[in-house]
Amino acid sequence: MPHPANLTTPSVVSTILRRSGLRPKHRWGQNFLVDAELLQKVVDGGDLSPDDGVLEIGPGLGALTQALAARVRQVLAVEIDPELYAILTQKTLAGVPNVRVQHQDFLQADLELLVPEVLGPGRHPVVANIPYSITSPVVIRLLEHQHLFDRIVLMVQKEVADRLIGAPGTKDYGSLTVFVHLYADARRVAMVPRTAFLPVPDVDSSIVRLDVLSEPRFPGLDTEHYLAVVHSAFRQRRKNLANALTGPPLSWTREQALTTLAAAGIDPNRRGETLTPDEFAHLTRLAPPCNSPQSHQVTKRSRKGREWNQVDANAEEAGESFGQD
Ligand code: SAM
Repeated sequence: MPHPANLTTPSVVSTILRRSGLRPKHRWGQNFLVDAELLQKVVDGGDLSPDDGVLEIGPGLGALTQALAARVRQVLAVEIDPELYAILTQKTLAGVPNVRVQHQDFLQADLELLVPEVLGPGRHPVVANIPYSITSPVVIRLLEHQHLFDRIVLMVQKEVADRLIGAPGTKDYGSLTVFVHLYADARRVAMVPRTAFLPVPDVDSSIVRLDVLSEPRFPGLDTEHYLAVVHSAFRQRRKNLANALTGPPLSWTREQALTTLAAAGIDPNRRGETLTPDEFAHLTRLAPPCNSPQSHQVTKRSRKGREWNQVDANAEEAGESFGQD
């Protein structure tokens, strides 16, 4: 039988950790959700039905996992921490028949094999309170497996939520916003104060929902080229497009930049942050191939979300990178 204690009670969480001789590990973002109402909002955000198979990333002590297991056919919960894995399998989720706890780094998991094996064929919901340090790689990885997931409900740092749903022309709008828009419609479900977690983190949070498109947003568009255009435009946010597009990864000549912008009917003095995703798509369709070998690196790296952190580490200023969580 599952652990009978209420895992959203701070004293219960403290007691389980103390009795197991554990301290929350900062490097794995272990801030446990200890607010039953907010936990319910996360679950409700997924519009789950009894037939669903759900992926959870980072089950922690299993509070959200228990609530999910009560609502759906099957849960796949991927946890990196061997000590939490032991608690989950021996205590808090022991005997829960419809949960498979997978001890693995989610960023290394072979989703093409694992998800159909545990959850069955088709597209599935993802519901998770994820470690904030890997939010961007997790989101990118999930969206790059568009054929496996149809909706994604995540607890994320408030500032990252702002970037996921940022409107063109605002400071929150950046390459992550445009990337997400390529695959999904994003919205905020609820704001979450930092006091909802144990230990209390330094930041507030939000629950966000991404409704993943079943078809490409821009049919026929070369996604990798599109992302290279977007990266160049945001990499040097203060520069106008005529200058920014001459930088990596595109590395167009100034003449190429001016000619392409003119063909697209886009003022070369505008900054990248003012372009809508539709305008980026229009520009990409008219764009010459990338000149820089770095562009190929960027596109290759897009297959491994974690490495966006490296690509973006060189960005001129904070705010435009995927990896800035
Ligand atoms: N879901 C629990 C809750 O809501 O209370 C815990 C959430 S805590 C913010 C993040 C969880 O993700 C921790 O259990 C942590 O060990 C786990 N985690 C961190 N990095 C991970 C990774 N790369 N793959 C899988 N789990 C990871």
